[in-house]
Amino acid sequence: MKTFKSTCCYCGVGCGVVVTKEGNGQLSLEGDKEHPSNKGMLCSKGMNLHYTVMDQSDRLLYPQMRLNRSMPMQRTSWDDALERTAAVFKTLIKKFGPDSVAFYVSGQCLTEEYYLVNKLIKGFIGSNNIDTNSRLCMSSAVVGYKLALGEDSVPVCYDDIEAADVIFVTGANPAWCHPIIWRRVEAHKAANPHVKIICVDPRKTDTSRSSDLHLQIAPGTDIVLNNAIGRVLIEKNYIDHEFIAAHTDGFSDFQEKVMQRTIAEAAELCGIDVADIYTAAQWIGASKGFLSFWTMGLNQSVIGVNKNLSLINLHLITGKIGKPGNGPFSLTGQPNAMGGRETGGLANMLPGHREIVNAEHRAEMEQFWNTPVKIANKPGLTATEMFEALADDKLKAIWIINTNPLVSMPDINVAEAALNKSRFVVVQDISNRADTVKFADVVLPAAAWLEKEGTMTNAERRITHLPKAIDAPGEALPDAEIIWRFAEKMGFGESFNYKNTSEVYDEYTACTAGTTIDVTGVNYQLLKNNRSIQWPLTTSFKNNKTPVTGTKRLFTDHQFHTKNKKAQIHAVADENTSEPTTPDYPLVLTTGRIRDQWHTMTKTGRVAKLNQHTPQPFLQLHPEDAKNRNIKEGQLAVIKSRRGEVRVKVNITEDVRPGLCFLPMHWGKILGSNLGRANNLTNNLVDPKSKEPDFKFSAVEVTLYKKP
Ligand code: SF4
Repeated sequence: MKTFKSTCCYCGVGCGVVVTKEGNGQLSLEGDKEHPSNKGMLCSKGMNLHYTVMDQSDRLLYPQMRLNRSMPMQRTSWDDALERTAAVFKTLIKKFGPDSVAFYVSGQCLTEEYYLVNKLIKGFIGSNNIDTNSRLCMSSAVVGYKLALGEDSVPVCYDDIEAADVIFVTGANPAWCHPIIWRRVEAHKAANPHVKIICVDPRKTDTSRSSDLHLQIAPGTDIVLNNAIGRVLIEKNYIDHEFIAAHTDGFSDFQEKVMQRTIAEAAELCGIDVADIYTAAQWIGASKGFLSFWTMGLNQSVIGVNKNLSLINLHLITGKIGKPGNGPFSLTGQPNAMGGRETGGLANMLPGHREIVNAEHRAEMEQFWNTPVKIANKPGLTATEMFEALADDKLKAIWIINTNPLVSMPDINVAEAALNKSRFVVVQDISNRADTVKFADVVLPAAAWLEKEGTMTNAERRITHLPKAIDAPGEALPDAEIIWRFAEKMGFGESFNYKNTSEVYDEYTACTAGTTIDVTGVNYQLLKNNRSIQWPLTTSFKNNKTPVTGTKRLFTDHQFHTKNKKAQIHAVADENTSEPTTPDYPLVLTTGRIRDQWHTMTKTGRVAKLNQHTPQPFLQLHPEDAKNRNIKEGQLAVIKSRRGEVRVKVNITEDVRPGLCFLPMHWGKILGSNLGRANNLTNNLVDPKSKEPDFKFSAVEVTLYKKP
């Protein structure tokens, strides 16, 4: 019997787990009581994580390829698969230039994997065409942090939960999507009844039901609400004048902006009571610790960056940041979305939070990597742009790693048509459940969680090491090894000559020297000894003293990462620019998650226990809207948008506001049909700054299904 300490590979809470491997190879798993993020707790998904690697029935076991898409896939060797891929990439690059190829990766990739793909395409192929599915979930938060605080830096930590007395949850349902965070919030509230929880969500959820105040706003009115709260904070003199004067810019423009709308107007637009806006503002203003959590309700919006800024504003005008229990906390939906940000795994970034558009940053990485080409000076294609470019034949080849865009991309028919038309598709994944496999020219089997070694960073900047505990099935290889073997086939072997991922990690940490996320000196051994560490590192680390704890909270000195060290308050417009509803499409559809599934179900969908909670997709519809359409509980309905349709059973519930309906985002094909796929309906609008799609607001109509 052997035990391994690892980290849950679902959401960004990053819970520690202890895996036990019996002599007969059977695995069991429990929460790691010593891990500071979860203190032994696990949610339903985490508790069943080991089943995802024990069931190998749908695993990809060996490389496959075909010469054209009308042919069946043939088993091949790693050498042949990678040689052919390299030959195609070289031909395309020679003929059409380096921007003719792209990598689309995932927040489930480990830090080392992100770093290698980024190094390969930006430093050696000469294109910035790498983006990640994290673009679909947190890029608005990244831009919001940068604009307000000067850098993509989550300023808070989970221990701030227990130091807060007002917890403001907006556009998020942590009770289902970040359950261990929520258990900490609930335990804190139970021990301290004076703690107030405010939930902002157009839907009633398990989170809103255990909150003290639920602001069930109309979809798209988040900024109206935040600005109204800002106005009350000013009028009731809850603002921190000293902090504003010494540590921020932009207050007078903000004040002017929020005074343009009365609280009564704001309440009417949001569809909530005036008194509730005053209550929320008063609780926030009078609090000693004001902690805000948000996820997709703010981020996945055509005005996502402005929604983020409007929330961060509330912290800046009250000075409630950089102190225990205070600050804005964007929760990440994927286990290593943060690691991806740190390694520059986005089309506009370089490692160490460096920027593509910054010539000095490019020069630093060119020198560090000793690149044979100049790093291109303009950002590459973002997630949605990649599929649009494929459809237009501007992009010729795409390599998709550990993500399932044919369920997760907005306006999915565009992505599907793009893959259909594309010249060359490589799919690197653990299982044949990924809907992309059928479009692939080359399929590369990847090792799963526990089958490979590496690191991840969770939502509170905590880096942990994940050991290899079991062998991957068949010929599956760790993702990092696949990339360095491919780099060698491309002729870059000298710069990708790694023996293991520990060497890759050491190279990554070395390149962060001098940046604000400097983690030089952190290595696998240190992470194993310390269990985890939060960046930025402390002086005790720099002096090589133990224990090494890292930094819990940022900006305690109120020196922000902007040029003048002041945080920026932004006066943001409150209008929503999502597609309008019309008489033909009068309802707003919002999409989201359910308790026991994660993303596109390629992992959770394999666990029988998790499928019992909600076996099928459904549409939540308000009783008034159901009555107007003569639809009864459990009947099959057709949901139509300007892009496509979905057919699912209806759940009539007052959990949604009149005029709003909700569809889970997890399902792809059901019984061979795509008609449960929420993204048949969503639109291709994106936030202009973050390029994050508008998943939370699509105009639809719902009718009773009638047999043709
Ligand atoms: Fe895993 Fe997230 Fe659940 Fe923790 S809260 S066990 S990280 S899914």
